[in-house]
Amino acid sequence: MSTSYLDTDDLGFYGAFGGAYVPELLRPNVEELEAAFNSYCFTETFENEYASLLKDFVGRPTPLYYAARLSEKYGMHIYLKREDLCHTGAHKVNNTVGQILLAKHMGKTDIIAETGAGQHGVATATVCALMGLNCIVYMGEKDIERQAPNVQRMKMLGAEVRPATSGSKTLKDATNEAIRHWINHPDSYYLIGSVVGPHPYPKIVAYFQSVISKEIEKQLTEKTGKGYPDKVVACVGGGSNAAGAFYHFFDTKSVELIAVEAAGLGIDSGKSAATSVLGTPGVLHGSLTLLMQDADGQVVEPHSISAGLDYPGIGPLHAHTIATGRTTAIAITDDEALQAALQLSKLEGIIPALESAHALAALDKLALRKDEVIVVNLSGRGDKDMNTYMEKFSSL
Ligand SMILES: *Cc1c(COP(=O)(O)O)cnc(C)c1O
Repeated sequence: MSTSYLDTDDLGFYGAFGGAYVPELLRPNVEELEAAFNSYCFTETFENEYASLLKDFVGRPTPLYYAARLSEKYGMHIYLKREDLCHTGAHKVNNTVGQILLAKHMGKTDIIAETGAGQHGVATATVCALMGLNCIVYMGEKDIERQAPNVQRMKMLGAEVRPATSGSKTLKDATNEAIRHWINHPDSYYLIGSVVGPHPYPKIVAYFQSVISKEIEKQLTEKTGKGYPDKVVACVGGGSNAAGAFYHFFDTKSVELIAVEAAGLGIDSGKSAATSVLGTPGVLHGSLTLLMQDADGQVVEPHSISAGLDYPGIGPLHAHTIATGRTTAIAITDDEALQAALQLSKLEGIIPALESAHALAALDKLALRKDEVIVVNLSGRGDKDMNTYMEKFSSL
């Protein structure tokens, strides 16, 4: 039997990580979801509809751009996978389009989601509007204040934004509220935004994001005559853009996979989100994975300048591939990411999202061989981060 890093066992484990830690009441929901995914998402009907929406609604394929000036600086061949050019400004919509088709096929009319910075909330509200489905997005009260433009976007798209008022009033509280809603309304569809949550979500989200590496393979073949690079670099919050960028290369051992986490103010500063270094095994959001927790098992509030990397856990697929050495994790500080954002802006005329800037900053940390081919997944555009850039670069 051939085994792949992407395979889970029957209980949804990637090696030691994963599974479905849900209340008994939700057991039928995750089983129904897995059955629907397996029976529907590999049919011609689904594939045609998904491909058509990715092309005409999302704007795929996204370019694989040869960054000539950046390449010259590092003495390498650097390609940027331009997920920043997707509709709504990031890769997240690849997943929400796929899941909304699945939800519709399952006869669901009420969609729920949780969001931290609001990016996944916007991507979910977008596809609910597209399909005419009801959308409720849970969001921490504190995040609602901090992320006003995304709250307004969700409202314009017809979604209801419900504040989570318990605990720290941030993402983990919004997640608790969403799960409570799901228990009380088991007919609703819970649309998860990264390769996290109970099995089968990590598998489903990774599959929907795998369009990224599928396109990279084809585009690299056209540009270099070889369908795989020496390295793929992607930032990791929960890990969906990384899972998508790595997907078709996991089992090609010569391709180095680099997952870039947010070190925040520094790994040992107490203000970090470098989960693979600081995390220990525990159950978060319905799966057993690496998470930042204190001695009592309480989740430690993460910190990163980029809202999308500010997550206390990491998807079980990444926990497994990092633990087994297939993937290399690197941590980048807030300041290093800011400098990388400025550098890309000036060298290539592309202002990246702060999350993506972490992946770019990793170029300074890698042991690079001359003339290597490196693909950096540019997960999103910088428009949403202009307030931070204005504050940090006010002297320009
Ligand atoms: C949400 C987000 C991320 C982090 O999420 P992953 O699931 O780790 O990909 C990274 N980049 C951008 C632009 C985002 O919006």
